[in-house]
Amino acid sequence: MNTKNNPYYSSETFLFYNGEFKKASETTTDLFGQTLHYGYGAFEGIRSYKTDEGTKIFKAVAHYERLKKSCELINIPFEYSLEDLIEKSYQLLEKNNLDDAYLRPIVFCDPNMSLTKPTGVNLMICAWKWGTYLGDNLLHLSVSSYCRPHPKSIKIEAKVCGHYINSILATNEAKNNGFDEALLLDCEGYVAEGPGANLFFEKNGTLFTPQLGNILPGITRATIIELCNNLGIKIQEGQFTLDQLLQADAAFYCGTAAEVIGITSIDKKEFPLDWEESLGKKLQIAYKNIVTANQFSLQN
Ligand code: PMP
Repeated sequence: MNTKNNPYYSSETFLFYNGEFKKASETTTDLFGQTLHYGYGAFEGIRSYKTDEGTKIFKAVAHYERLKKSCELINIPFEYSLEDLIEKSYQLLEKNNLDDAYLRPIVFCDPNMSLTKPTGVNLMICAWKWGTYLGDNLLHLSVSSYCRPHPKSIKIEAKVCGHYINSILATNEAKNNGFDEALLLDCEGYVAEGPGANLFFEKNGTLFTPQLGNILPGITRATIIELCNNLGIKIQEGQFTLDQLLQADAAFYCGTAAEVIGITSIDKKEFPLDWEESLGKKLQIAYKNIVTANQFSLQN
């Protein structure tokens, strides 16, 4: 692997690749796989945090379970032990001297240029230091001209490599138009999610979030719902129109990479409630507390 001009690696970086720790600079891969050519692979995005009890990978079990499920949903064999992958993830962080970090496991296919089932699979885990994915400032969103993929075209609940073309198109469209990020509707025209984050909005003291079905079931989304239950915040899942969202008091995105980040406007329509006074802000603080200090134990 060429480590020149690669912001994620130095010549000293280790990867976990097909059962072994290897220097990134000494790792090679085939160029004729279905993942590179057709986007047929699955991945995860996981964060580790420096906590009072040392480095902790947040929701490691949930992430590796989703990786397994993503592979199974698209018929990629997954024969790894989740406990072993978690152990190797901790070792990888240690080998790379990382504490606050982002981990990226990816399952990708062996050489096979046809559209038949994979001839073999590979698993790589890499890790790097990554600041908050959407920055720390409140976001100006625009409603994308792209909708989220139809759940009958793909397995929307799986975190599949090729699905991210939709995300890349939407993000770049928003950025080219001067916005920070996109908001995507689903194929039926209801509010769905961001290119890499789930959406919540607040109205009259209640929190609302799009129901599962046309979105990625985010692990942070599940954590926020758990936090709401713990904090006594009313939360409702459902199908919501763009109009309902635009009439909201406040809104935020959440995701492993993005964490919890406030949204200030959508298509230049500002939300009236000050972010500092919103439920989102309260949850942003609560989320930071559980990932960094393990203040109370949510299911890992
Ligand atoms: N939606 C999409 C499309 C995503 O890519 C992500 C990031 N994985 C999320 C939502 C948030 O998911 P999670 O909280 O599991 O990171």
